[in-house]
Amino acid sequence: MKKVWIDAGHGGKDPGAVANGLKEKDIVLSVALEIKKRLEANYDGVYVLLSRSTDVFLALAERTSLANKAGADILVSIHGNAGGGSGGFETYRYINASAASTALQNGLHTAIVDMLNKVAVGVIDRGQKAKNLHMVRESNMPAVLTENLFLDVATDAAKLKKDVVIQAIIDGHVIGIAKYLSLKKKDAGDQKNNDNKVAVLVNGKKVADGVLDNGTTYTPARAVAEALGATVVYDAETKTVNITK
Ligand SMILES: [Zn+2]
Repeated sequence: MKKVWIDAGHGGKDPGAVANGLKEKDIVLSVALEIKKRLEANYDGVYVLLSRSTDVFLALAERTSLANKAGADILVSIHGNAGGGSGGFETYRYINASAASTALQNGLHTAIVDMLNKVAVGVIDRGQKAKNLHMVRESNMPAVLTENLFLDVATDAAKLKKDVVIQAIIDGHVIGIAKYLSLKKKDAGDQKNNDNKVAVLVNGKKVADGVLDNGTTYTPARAVAEALGATVVYDAETKTVNITK
């Protein structure tokens, strides 16, 4: 069982960056909670411990001492950035980071940037950096701190207000962590689908893969209808599929 420590930065009396109607402590908390939920729901052999799951203040020393005591396998500290300029995404490892921390940073950084680029235009990749930061220095396990866009840069703030961007940040963390820890995706659903998979034939020729569920075969209508010489018209407005021959 792998133990992942997710550290949502700031909290309580410490809001972190505040700008453009956004508060860093709120964004990073909701991201952290959702990372825990998705990692545990979608992967086997992992559980996630959190520095905080509510809006409370914790000193930096408390965070790393809790994670060290728990014997977490990795630590990811989640932040939003500030400081102006043109904004962007960046990650930090310790200045004398272990090879493991560097590998974790690389996997996480790449996964998050990839996800962000899928949903948002013009996300600046500020790079994989090293800095003497408490969270990455005092953690006994591979540790990385992510800075997820600039709250005080208008273009970044506009992105952070979009749900797809927050979802991409969450998924990027989940994918990066899963890859680094070689977590196996839960396959209960896939297994079920494979067991119920049927080949759909028209006049002896396979036209589609179908799924048999409780005596009903679900298969793409178009593949079957067209193989039978029919025409398929989909009307998005009324959400109807009209098959004519
Ligand atoms: Zn911060």
